[in-house]
Amino acid sequence: MRNAGEVDASGGSGDEALHRRRTWFAKYRKAAARADYRDPEDVIEVPYTCPCCGYPTLAARNRLWYCAICWWEDDGQDDPRADEVFGGPNGIYSLSQSRQYFRQYGKYSPPNENARLAYPDEEGESELERESVRRMISTFEAMMTPQDDDARIALWEVVKECYATLDAEKRRKNDAS
Ligand SMILES: [Zn+2]
Repeated sequence: MRNAGEVDASGGSGDEALHRRRTWFAKYRKAAARADYRDPEDVIEVPYTCPCCGYPTLAARNRLWYCAICWWEDDGQDDPRADEVFGGPNGIYSLSQSRQYFRQYGKYSPPNENARLAYPDEEGESELERESVRRMISTFEAMMTPQDDDARIALWEVVKECYATLDAEKRRKNDAS
């Protein structure tokens, strides 16, 4: 059962916010796939939603790619077996448990237990990375509000900028370690 006082990292609350995001972006993905764009450069491939945080961060499912927002690694687990601990890349956490941690901490695990190998220097998330993730979340939230196509395309450009910043930070940290 959901704790009524729980606040989602994005400002919504609990599993309803997660479900709302996933439903919205799944519909958007389908609509974008069959849209008749004036300019081929405007074609948007909307990624699949992360089963943990619900934002569209996965270009494919079940490939062991990790979500840039919550760091959940997609081993294919989803709603039907959310309470099970698969014991793979997400370690000791079930998907349900990690969803709760995302609401509390913004990541799939508590900060003192974060062990993502993407961060070999153990420095954790830098301020620039935190800022990029916050910006990505608010951009996805903005996409869900009524927008015309051009405005949404501009928002995807912001998402790309966030990824570029995250990649640059990862390289900087790898060079430094
Ligand atoms: Zn995620």
